[in-house]
Amino acid sequence: MPFAKRIAKLNPSITLAVDAKAKALKAQGLDVVGFGAGEPDFDTPPHIRDAAIKGLNEGLTRYTPAAGMPQLRQAVADFYQSRYGLPASPKNVAICCGAKHALYNVFQLLLDPGDEVIIPAPYWVSYPEMVWLAEGEAVILPTDESTSFRLSAEQLRAAITPRTKVLVLNSPSNPTGATYSRRELEALAEVAREKNLWVIADEIYEYLVYDGFEFVSFPTVGNDLFERTIIVSGASKTYAMTGWRIGWAVGPEPLIEMMSRLLSQSTSNATSFAQAGAIAALKGSPDIIREMVAMFAKRRNVMVEFLRNIPGVECFNPEGAFYVFPKVSSYYGKTYQGKTIDGSLAMCEYLLDAVQVAAVPGIGFGQDANIRLSYATSMDQIEKGLERIRRALLEL
Ligand code: PMP
Ligand code: GLU
Repeated sequence: MPFAKRIAKLNPSITLAVDAKAKALKAQGLDVVGFGAGEPDFDTPPHIRDAAIKGLNEGLTRYTPAAGMPQLRQAVADFYQSRYGLPASPKNVAICCGAKHALYNVFQLLLDPGDEVIIPAPYWVSYPEMVWLAEGEAVILPTDESTSFRLSAEQLRAAITPRTKVLVLNSPSNPTGATYSRRELEALAEVAREKNLWVIADEIYEYLVYDGFEFVSFPTVGNDLFERTIIVSGASKTYAMTGWRIGWAVGPEPLIEMMSRLLSQSTSNATSFAQAGAIAALKGSPDIIREMVAMFAKRRNVMVEFLRNIPGVECFNPEGAFYVFPKVSSYYGKTYQGKTIDGSLAMCEYLLDAVQVAAVPGIGFGQDANIRLSYATSMDQIEKGLERIRRALLEL
């Protein structure tokens, strides 16, 4: 029996696939080092867990409004007002089942068949798939180390056609960690204004920046931008809440109103007591986040320095997020047990098979020369995993 055509070309999420495989091998007793999924290794802080348990015990067991509990929408709006000075009210906020779900909803709301969405590569694996699911066209614009993996305004302008509707900006970026400066965002904003584009600003790693790098939220670089921007973010990364599935979209009221309709006809609402946890997260002290960021910063330094010392490996120094994206293509063409390592998929298979290290193939992010390693794991695991990678590469 046939499936819908748009589903037939859907790929599974390679990040989740690698993570599932690593977890399954660990469960079988194998000593696997998991650099796969971008999931903080910390537990959700206790005051957040307590708030969810309290909510559950106090009867937060029913449907909430489709766009989220009023208190959570207010807490998110307060966050954008106080941290970035944005004119956000609760009517500008829709709570979704994770930032991934918020992105999915935004593409459903914005795209007609054939509408073009500009996605700078390397990109997070799910963007093109979500665009296709909404019957849009993903227009991939390559970037590389020479521009610190950032899209320039000229590149953007040159790619625009009469069908271009949306620009996706992910800063700090998954997988490269590249983070746009205010000046770079201003230049991109000028093009968005001139060409009347929507901008989806995926800012899920907003807190995770290093070396004193300043994170700039896209709509803060121009007073008129809030009206054409949908910020997507959530609780997963900042508060170590990946399994809770709480994310949000912040945008113009009419768009959020439509998203509320879409939510009411699809998921109904994000889990009630998880929303109670998210309120506590947003209202809590940022000290916990600072501690996590300090730990990520140390791990990043160890990763980058170690990888740069492996012959033939190049590694961009990420300004944010918790990934490194080393270029390993100088090892392509070598063979292992009679099989040629012909790209990032074969390289990741080799690393898992030969030294039990899980990494994500760069091809899933639109760059086959690289592999992605997440450093959201303990220093012990990082040191062990890096040693293994060096051994595996040098043995080729
Ligand atoms: N955007 C980016 C860039 C991501 O890396 C992720 C993965 N966590 C998400 C969105 C989705 O996050 P979540 O659905 O867990 O909120
Ligand atoms: N976003 C994380 C990653 O890139 C988690 C997995 C996913 O949501 O795809 O690894």
